This record gives sequence, structure tokens and C-alpha cells, in this order.
Amino acid sequence: MYQEAINNYLKRTGQEALRLRAVLFDMDGVLFDSMPYHADAWAEVMNRHGLRFTREEAFLHEGRTGAATINIAYRRQYGQDAPPELIQQMYQEKCEAFARHPEPGRMPGAPELLRKVKEAGLVPVLVTGSGQRTLLDRLAHHYPGVFAPGRMVTAFDVKRGKPDPEPYLMSLQKAGVRANEAVVVENAPIGVQAGHAAGIFTIAVNTGPLDGQVLLNAGADLLFPSMQRLCDEWEAFFRQRVS
Ligand code: MG
Repeated sequence: MYQEAINNYLKRTGQEALRLRAVLFDMDGVLFDSMPYHADAWAEVMNRHGLRFTREEAFLHEGRTGAATINIAYRRQYGQDAPPELIQQMYQEKCEAFARHPEPGRMPGAPELLRKVKEAGLVPVLVTGSGQRTLLDRLAHHYPGVFAPGRMVTAFDVKRGKPDPEPYLMSLQKAGVRANEAVVVENAPIGVQAGHAAGIFTIAVNTGPLDGQVLLNAGADLLFPSMQRLCDEWEAFFRQRVS
């Protein structure tokens, strides 16, 4: 099953082999079980400002920058982008609403997978569209010593967020590896699109309420129902990484 997925990837990218040296991790919904709180916070703040936006949409659009998320709802209603001051105000409110929730826990299976990745001598890199300082600080607390400061790409680093490939292309640069020397681990359709567009083997973990087919349609090379399953299957996948 994994060999077939790898062969399909090689065929689509024209690469000769998948030689794994780095693993590129999304943060929300992959490392932290934070998406339900993000979805609540987005729906609450959008509705407060008279914009229609559901929790389900928050999952569908996960991975976009705050401004892009706000503009999806704003453009739909007003046919133009939101004023920058409103975007700034709403994103601040969204961060405050998120912070009122309990602290999100680590995603089950994620700490163990990161341990396996490090033990195999692979370089873990964080690639997130988030610009929330609290979560980024929490990363150092919950995953101490895992992500070196130079091995993170956040909302502060990129011009174009996911689904643009820029964040993942930048992470390859930061890890010093090529597209066929890494895999992406993503839970959101837009993140999967970004990894796919960057020419990287993209593993989707369906940790939210979306139909898994949405992630396959976005271009996932492999789909797992949870981070725990990916962690359990890691050795089986890793063994077959070279065709
Ligand atoms: Mg995510």
C-alpha cells in the first residue's frame, strides 16, 4: 500500500526516489488538538462582526492566514477585501477568544512520532500558517528541544500562506533538503494542497470532522485517520521509502 503511494508520487513528480531526510509538520490539528477551539473562536468573532461563517468552514479553511480567512467571509458578503484595520481587530479578537479556551493538549500519537523521527536521524521542521504567539511559545514547552529555531516557518516568514507552496518550499530550504527528501504531515485540505504543490510527498491525517475524501482530493499521497495511526504505521512506511 505504501509502496504504491510512493510509486504514484515518483510518477507524478518525475523524481527517481524518495530519500527521507526531513519531516515537515503542520502544527494545529497535527501537533496540538487545537482545531475545535480555533473553529469555535472563528465562528464567534465572525458572527460578532456580522459575517456568516460556520465551524465546519473553519476546518475547511484551516491553514490560511488570519487575513485570508477573514477575507473569505468578507468577500462573500461585500464583494471586496476587508479593511486592514478590521482584519487586525478581528484577528486580535480571534486570538483572545481562542485564549479563553482551555489549553489545547498534544495530539495523541504526535509526541511518540516525533521521538521516532528524531531517533531515525530525520530533521523535524514546523510549517504553520499560525501567527499566534501563545501557541508558538507552547510548542517550546510541550515539545522541548524538538524544533530548532531555524527549523520553523510561521505566518511571520511567508508572503503567501498555504495553499501556496511557499511555506513548504521555504521549509525545504531551512532544512537544507530537496522536495524528494522530505514528507509533509498535514491535517487540512489547504495544507495538503500546499505540500502537494511544493512537490513533496504529502501525508494527510484526518484529525477533524471533514470527510477524508476532501484530503485525498486536495492531493494527499497517503491518508491516515489519526496521528496515532500514522505513528503506529511509521516504521512500515519508513522501511519502504526507497523504491
Ligand atoms: Mg493543521
